[in-house]
Amino acid sequence: MTIDHAARRARLAAALPAHEVPALLVTSPVNVRYLTGLVSSNAAVLVRADGSALLATDNRYIDKTRALDVPAVEAPDVAGRLAAPGVGIEAAAMTVATFRRLEAGLKEGDGKGGGLVPLGPLVEELRAVKDEAELELIRTACALTDQAFADVLPMIAPGLTERALARLLDNRMTELGADKPAFDTIVAAGEHGAIPHHAPTDRELRAGDLVTMDFGARYHGYHADMTRTVCLGAPAAWQRDLYDLVRRAQRAGRHALTPGALAKDVDAAARGLIEAAGHGEHFRHGLGHGVGLEIHEDPFLGPSRTGRLEDRVPITVEPGIYLPERGGVRIEDTLVTREGGPELFTKTTKELLVL
Ligand code: ZN
Ligand code: ZN
Repeated sequence: MTIDHAARRARLAAALPAHEVPALLVTSPVNVRYLTGLVSSNAAVLVRADGSALLATDNRYIDKTRALDVPAVEAPDVAGRLAAPGVGIEAAAMTVATFRRLEAGLKEGDGKGGGLVPLGPLVEELRAVKDEAELELIRTACALTDQAFADVLPMIAPGLTERALARLLDNRMTELGADKPAFDTIVAAGEHGAIPHHAPTDRELRAGDLVTMDFGARYHGYHADMTRTVCLGAPAAWQRDLYDLVRRAQRAGRHALTPGALAKDVDAAARGLIEAAGHGEHFRHGLGHGVGLEIHEDPFLGPSRTGRLEDRVPITVEPGIYLPERGGVRIEDTLVTREGGPELFTKTTKELLVL
C-alpha cells in the first residue's frame, strides 16, 4: 500500500480558509514527514490553500526530495526560506526565538510588518484518523511487539535484571525488523511496579514478583505500545485479585471504544470498576492515547478529556493499579476504532502468565 501525500496536503489545504490564512508553514518534523514523506531533522513545508506546496530542507536531505511528489528548495534556514507575511505557523512546533527572528525578517522585507499567524494543531488533527496504509504499518509494529514478547518470555526468570530484560526485548524487536524500540522500554519488578514510568535498574527479578513490561516496536515510523504484567512463581491472593481487577477494567475500556464515544466516557468505563473496588487513588493516569507517527498523539483518553472518537483511530487502553512499596499491574493494548467494534492489534494473551 502506498501513501498518498498529496491527498493529505489537500485535506490540510481545505482546512486553511477557516483559519483565514493563505498557507500554513509546517515546521514539526513529524508533520513534514506526514505531508511529504521526507524523513529529516531539518525541513519545513509551506502548504497553500490551493493545495500546492513547497518543501525546504538543507543539503544533507535535498537528494531525498527528488523522489517526492512536491517541489523542494535547498536552504540552511528552512523556515526563513518559506516564511511570508500572513501565513500560519504551528505554534506548538516553533520556538519563540525562531518566531521573533522570522517576524523581524518579514518586517524588513515588506516594510508593512505583515506578521505570522500562530495556529493550533491542524496537522495533528488530520493525523488522528489513519488511512489503511498507516493501519497496516501499526498492525505490523504490533505483530513484531507480540513476537518479541513470545520469544523473550522463556528467558524471564529469577536473577535476570530489569535492565537485562529490557535489553532482551529491545534487541529482539530490532532483530525482527523494527526500526528501533518505540520508546524507552519499561521493566518494573516487585515494588518498582508501583511506579508507572519506572526506568529499568540492576534490580534482579525474584520469585514472588509481579513484573510489568511496557514496550513496543517502531516500524516505518509507526509505533506500537503494549504492557503485560507477569508473575514469577505462584501469585499471592492480593496479586491475583489486583490482576483480575485491572484485566476487567481493561476489557471494559476496550469495549467502550466505539466511533462517536466521548473520550472521557471510555476512560470512565474502565476507571469506574477500579474506583468501585476502592483503588481509584491508585490509578492516576489517563486510560490511553493515540499512536501513530508519535508514540503519544491525539486523541487522549482521560477524565477531563473533551472530544469524541472517530473511526480508524489507533489508540491504547492501559489501566493500571499501583500500590506504593508493594507493586503494581498494568495491562495495555493498542487497538483501532472501527464501526462494529475495535480491531485488536496487540494479540498477546491477557491471562495472568505465571512463570
Ligand atoms: Zn505503554
Ligand atoms: Zn501507552
